[in-house]
Amino acid sequence: MSIHYKCRHCGVAVGTIDSVSVNSQELGFHQLDDQERMDMISYQNNGDIEVKTICEDCQEALDRNPQFHENQTFIH
Ligand SMILES: [Zn+2]
Repeated sequence: MSIHYKCRHCGVAVGTIDSVSVNSQELGFHQLDDQERMDMISYQNNGDIEVKTICEDCQEALDRNPQFHENQTFIH
């Protein structure tokens, strides 16, 4: 099972955890509420998990332009 982190804004692959030993507790998923979990985590047909996160580039852009963030969240 692999866990793929993808930027929710630009779609770039941020990183992959390739491990069967990682459980959802260690990943911090339990800190999310159900809505966040549904928004952030999608289970792939092959058993992999895709987690939406934010890449450094987008984080930087958002820090500079908070307005940009509001716009982006409505684009799917
Ligand atoms: Zn990005």
